[in-house]
Amino acid sequence: MKQYRMALDQGTTSSRCIIFDRTGNIVSLAAHEFTQHFPNEGWVEHDAEEIFSTQLTAAREALAKAGLSATDIACIGITNQRETTVVWDRETGRAICPAIVWQCRRTAARCDELRAQGYAQAIRDKTGLPIDAYFSATKLEWILSHVEGARARAVRGELLFGTVDTYLIWRLTGGRVHATDPSNAARTMLFNIHTLAWDTELLELFDIPACMLPEVKPSAGLFGTTDAALLGAPIPITGVAGDQQAALFGQCCFEAGSVKNTYGTGGFLLMNTGERAITSQNGLLTTIGWQIGDKVTYVLEGSVFVCGAAIQWLRDGLGLLSSSAESEAVAKSVPDTAGVYFVPALTGLGAPYWDPYARGTVVGISRGTTRAHLVRATLEAMAFQTADVLAAMREDAQASIPALRVDGGASANDLLLSMQSDLLGIPVQRPACIETTALGAANLAGLAIGLYRDLDEIRALTRTERTFSPSVGHAVRKKRLADWHRAVERARHWVTE
Ligand code: ADP
Repeated sequence: MKQYRMALDQGTTSSRCIIFDRTGNIVSLAAHEFTQHFPNEGWVEHDAEEIFSTQLTAAREALAKAGLSATDIACIGITNQRETTVVWDRETGRAICPAIVWQCRRTAARCDELRAQGYAQAIRDKTGLPIDAYFSATKLEWILSHVEGARARAVRGELLFGTVDTYLIWRLTGGRVHATDPSNAARTMLFNIHTLAWDTELLELFDIPACMLPEVKPSAGLFGTTDAALLGAPIPITGVAGDQQAALFGQCCFEAGSVKNTYGTGGFLLMNTGERAITSQNGLLTTIGWQIGDKVTYVLEGSVFVCGAAIQWLRDGLGLLSSSAESEAVAKSVPDTAGVYFVPALTGLGAPYWDPYARGTVVGISRGTTRAHLVRATLEAMAFQTADVLAAMREDAQASIPALRVDGGASANDLLLSMQSDLLGIPVQRPACIETTALGAANLAGLAIGLYRDLDEIRALTRTERTFSPSVGHAVRKKRLADWHRAVERARHWVTE
């Protein structure tokens, strides 16, 4: 059997391709950034053609770097930026307008209107999501209403909709396959996560013709085979998952109660809740992790808007650091923050507070406060925010969480991870392969073709590089969290319009 797997990791700022061997070692990696378009205040767009061409180039380069040809590749796994909405012409495969990116706020007013009309509960019950402009439904509705002739053409079956996974599958298979997986479908706000079907009432509400929607297939299984002309030989696409869910899978969070956090620009916590779709009482959302065979795994998800971005702000906004990595040495130069707390609510607060009016706040400054204290308080804030989301998960799931697995750029920071372990009172585990998103997609794809017998075999191949264990007791933890929460209160409801 062929041993190599190709992961296409189509992110918000770059298209990457990683080739893994059977045991999960990286054989080669290639990445291409692409253009971000900001045509209006709060709008974010991508060119779907550029997404596809950079992805294809990355795949070709990764093959070349590895000295492999397409015939050496057993399967492809796709993971992608979620919610971003593409509408294209079935005949030509060309998008009819720019892709509307998940970050784009153009439909925020429409979402306010839907909430005012009382749709929030029904939409949450069906989709697990709060009404928000992030999700695809209002973006697709916008395209159908604003691009001339689009709705009529869609009704005639001439146009197709997809999230980025679906668009890549369509283009890679030469327009033969129109499909997605439940982890991506669950982010559209059109998919019923309990019945696993597109919801006819929601399609009616947003006036979306059902004929433009992709078929939803299990996350591990045959989606289609790439057009031979693209990479030199046909390769089966056998794994698909949205980026955060792929990272959860790549972290081997296979059992209910396992949790991962990605410390990137923002922070993304996902908890596997097994076969139970848990409705959060604490501002988390309910979504699908993956489907293998007919078994669906649900997750709770919470995001922190500003995580590593707070370090970026110290570096670029204040000029306190020359690099993000320097934050560790600077913070270590003092034993603690000397009572300083920084609430990095630079763009409001996400889960579990959901306060768009909160703003960044530093409290506890005294004559002795130095740059090092502020840098240390910033790292600590990343850990505090994560602890808040984890506490919400614990409460919603009524489960104890044995450990936290971590990845993302800032997970390279050892001090951050020890602080995190102290605040949670549980071990924090950093995997040897921090490319968990791509690895997750490759593992789903490998599972589908029988490269692994089962999840246990995948787990056996995965190594933890380092485990951080708590070094403080319960009383210290409780006091620190209480002080942090006092600081959060001072940051909340700041902007009054
Ligand atoms: P994304 O994929 O969200 O763009 P990454 O996962 O690459 O981000 O993480 C980058 C973020 O992590 C940046 O905000 C950066 O400031 C932060 N970061 C990177 N290295 C470190 C470090 N050693 N310590 C603290 N923060 C870091």
